Amino acid sequence: MITEDIKNQPIIVSACLVGLSCRYDGKVLDSNIVETVIDFLKGRCFLAVCPEQLGGLPTERLPMEIEGGGGADVLDGKARVRDSSGADRSQNLIRGAMEAYKIAKLAGARIALLKDGSPSCGTHRIRRGGRRVRGLGVTAALFRRKGIAILSEDDLTRLKKRQP
Ligand code: SF4
Repeated sequence: MITEDIKNQPIIVSACLVGLSCRYDGKVLDSNIVETVIDFLKGRCFLAVCPEQLGGLPTERLPMEIEGGGGADVLDGKARVRDSSGADRSQNLIRGAMEAYKIAKLAGARIALLKDGSPSCGTHRIRRGGRRVRGLGVTAALFRRKGIAILSEDDLTRLKKRQP
């Protein structure tokens, strides 16, 4: 929940949510999502990060999924991230999560707005076998573990609807 006391705090944001072309396919997200996010960020201090790029992966890259668990399991070495060729990308996503956390810590961020559905940034859901299932991405899991509140672009839309 976004409360007044965090309105002036720096926020970490998934770079693709503000319209940067860092997604696996190099495309920009739907403009409605980007507009909602930019509207929310107006007047706030934010840092846009892409954990997968920070983890050393290129754009464009093959799509990835977490196999055998969620983001926390990847951090604990109990599950793996594989791209569509079968290559193990777990270390890239762990490194990206740690770099993103380093930025959050340096900035004193206590909240992160992350793109849902991603193996790194997923806040409620990740993809498995091409379908969305409940779970956290690797960066989202590390942030939660470190006490950073996470919310998704859909949470923003829900909050907006609740406002009078
Ligand atoms: S969801 Fe996260 S990792 Fe994927 S492109 Fe967006 S910022 Fe990068």
